[in-house]
Amino acid sequence: MYQPHHVIILVFILGICLGSFLNVVITRLPVMLMNQWRREARSALELTMEPVTRFNLLLPASLCPRCEHPIAWHDNLPLIGWIKRRGRCTHCQGRISLQYPLIELGGGLLALAVLLLHGISVSSLFIYAACLVLLALSAIDFRTYLLPDILTLPLLWAGLLYQLLFQPYMISDAVIGAMGGYLVLWSFFWLFKLMTGKEGMGYGDFKLLAALGAWLGWSFLPLLLILSAGLGALIGVTAQTLHPHLRGTPLPFGPFLAIAGWLCLLMGNELLALYLSVAG
Ligand SMILES: [Zn+2]
Repeated sequence: MYQPHHVIILVFILGICLGSFLNVVITRLPVMLMNQWRREARSALELTMEPVTRFNLLLPASLCPRCEHPIAWHDNLPLIGWIKRRGRCTHCQGRISLQYPLIELGGGLLALAVLLLHGISVSSLFIYAACLVLLALSAIDFRTYLLPDILTLPLLWAGLLYQLLFQPYMISDAVIGAMGGYLVLWSFFWLFKLMTGKEGMGYGDFKLLAALGAWLGWSFLPLLLILSAGLGALIGVTAQTLHPHLRGTPLPFGPFLAIAGWLCLLMGNELLALYLSVAG
């Protein structure tokens, strides 16, 4: 879809700023959840409570993860700050994770993809929000093997709302997609567990596929599974060949579901047509 240059640049800058906020969610949400679980466990065990430290998405302000030196606003500008500091803390020279610029760039590129493929509309904003939640989920899963309910479940409800608002004729496809997405991975999980005694994935993966089923409808489920499993196998084998010490480390499945989700949300109809012409 044609867009003037200044719109493209503005949308890209807005996207990297939102990516910068996602970095806060990605690094802090798992810690906040962990703190909450600790408090709940201590309360259930009737242990004395630890003092509550103020730690949320807004407080404390950005700190160097190594020396905890506050980061000045001009060093904290999305993308530019990291490049300016060459990925190091100005205070202790410790490395600042490549995650920060990558997620910011991801936020910007996804914004551009939605703009160019879907144009500017309220439904595009919904699709972009879903793309950002998928980005946060894949980074959190990659770092911690968690897919928090606080992100997967709202993504599912938002998918059903998206269908109600913008394509009400799709609502039953979406409900079946959500149920089917959950059940198909749930069945794989139990089949694998009964046969091998191992757990191949987690309940977060079922909820994430359910959410994608809501956003895309049931007809996308086979394509989502083929894309995510195919990418997972390809990247898993490549990573283990290049870095043999990675053998035996479980691979999170969430990032591959997210990549499949992005592809289908952004150019679903083209992909589905291609898949049906190959499969049929
Ligand atoms: Zn530092």
